[in-house]
Amino acid sequence: MGYLDLDTKMNKRLKALQQTAREFGREVVRPAGIALDKLTDPADVIADDSVLWDVFQGFRERGLHKVMIPKAFGGAMGALPPLALTLVNEQMGYADGGLAVSMLVAGMPFVFAIMSPHKEVRNWARDFVNDTKGNMIGCWAITEPDHGTDWVLGTSRAGGDPRLAPGLTAVKKGDEYILHGWKSAWVSNGTIATHAVLHVGLDPSKGIHGSGIALCPLDLPGITRNAPLNKVGQRPLNQGEIIFDEVKLPKKYMLLPAPGFFGANTFGHTFLGVANSSMGVTFAGQAQATLDEALRFAYENKRNGILLAEQEDVKIRLFRMFAKVEAARNLARKTSLHFMSMSSGRISNFATSHRLTFWALGNALHAFFQAYEKYESVRDWAEVLTHPVRTNELMEWGKYGVASKITATETAYEVAQEALQIFGVDALSPDCPIEKMLRDARASMIEDGANDALAMAAFEGV
Ligand SMILES: Cc1cc2nc3c(=O)[nH]c(=O)nc-3n(C[C@H](O)[C@H](O)[C@H](O)COP(=O)(O)OP(=O)(O)OC[C@H]3O[C@@H](n4cnc5c(N)ncnc54)[C@H](O)[C@@H]3O)c2cc1C
Repeated sequence: MGYLDLDTKMNKRLKALQQTAREFGREVVRPAGIALDKLTDPADVIADDSVLWDVFQGFRERGLHKVMIPKAFGGAMGALPPLALTLVNEQMGYADGGLAVSMLVAGMPFVFAIMSPHKEVRNWARDFVNDTKGNMIGCWAITEPDHGTDWVLGTSRAGGDPRLAPGLTAVKKGDEYILHGWKSAWVSNGTIATHAVLHVGLDPSKGIHGSGIALCPLDLPGITRNAPLNKVGQRPLNQGEIIFDEVKLPKKYMLLPAPGFFGANTFGHTFLGVANSSMGVTFAGQAQATLDEALRFAYENKRNGILLAEQEDVKIRLFRMFAKVEAARNLARKTSLHFMSMSSGRISNFATSHRLTFWALGNALHAFFQAYEKYESVRDWAEVLTHPVRTNELMEWGKYGVASKITATETAYEVAQEALQIFGVDALSPDCPIEKMLRDARASMIEDGANDALAMAAFEGV
């Protein structure tokens, strides 16, 4: 079925990128996802001969990972219009929700790295761009065995409660931080990642607000992983625990060393919105794939001698599915495009094309965090500047990111339920694509924050 790109200006280069991602999704990602989903032991998903590595390598060889990284580091951000990342995410979600998440989080530490004051760390972004084999794999390790939703609530004022303090602590000793604690088995790419964006507790008295963010190479002594997680949805996505036993982390890897900054103002909220808006795009893509499977089935199968697609109730059901998918897809695209456009425009494009900008950004942030840690007046100033949260535009967009994630994941699930009804008993066979899509969509409603908790955090105080 044809879909319009509503309100989206697509130039030739964007259309070519979308086509590359679509073909890669159809030829490599979708079949790999189906094969990996059927493996009973999650260790086989990451075995040396697994098709997972064809997905990683194919994604990198086609340069699809470059859309996350600014032009200054060899990436495509700033070289292509801001819609580029959105289109790649959407097509990956269309092919396989779990693998789409794996590809996206694989780049996160290298995206964060561009904000480091240290050249060595900033250069991770360049190395990631040049890695066409898929050797550099990132994860975003937030959730802990005792803290899932607490992190989401940490982006609101409720997160200052000391009972919510992270279990993984980072204690500063000279030029190092000593890391001790666990990240939960739900960390995506957890057992295969080489680098992590790591949320750690710096000051337990401030609850989740007392967190810092480190960029952690995962080959440091004292870091171990457990076996990959077995689960019901998104089985092709590798997940697993990361354990830190008195790990010495050089202080150059602590990107956000200021306890109290995370969550105490718009920062945490915007963070939540940006991450959630990517999830929205991915699962709007999956919802569209489910609709297309239902349409294909309805046009290929007859009941009582009449094509399913010509039965009145099926027609109505299909149209309602179409309307829901388009509503989710357009909210997701628009929200994601807004976040991606924040760094576009002629001046921004010029600035993000030069490494000097990132040197200045990294050093300015570092100086600010140092002052934030040291001087109460700076903390007060930051609070005053950012805490009229309801009128702050960044905060408003955070809310839209969450709305996009909730709408898209719930749409993906509802559309899979509707598709299941159209397929009838055929949908209950493990060989039917709908059964997997239903499981993948259900997991997405908890992933990146349980939808109810996200709604609470996003609407806090409104
Ligand atoms: C497929 C998938 C991928 C994931 N990837 C990652 C990843 O890459 N990195 C990572 O760090 N984590 C990841 N997660 C973990 C995910 O972020 C957490 O599962 C999520 O935040 C919810 O936490 P929880 O499962 O511990 O649920 P809980 O926090 O135990 O919550 C269970 C239920 O209780 C409700 N609840 C909890 N606290 C409150 C409260 N105070 N008030 C009201 N209701 C409450 C919640 O809304 C929820 O419905 C992933 C999860 C999935 C399913």
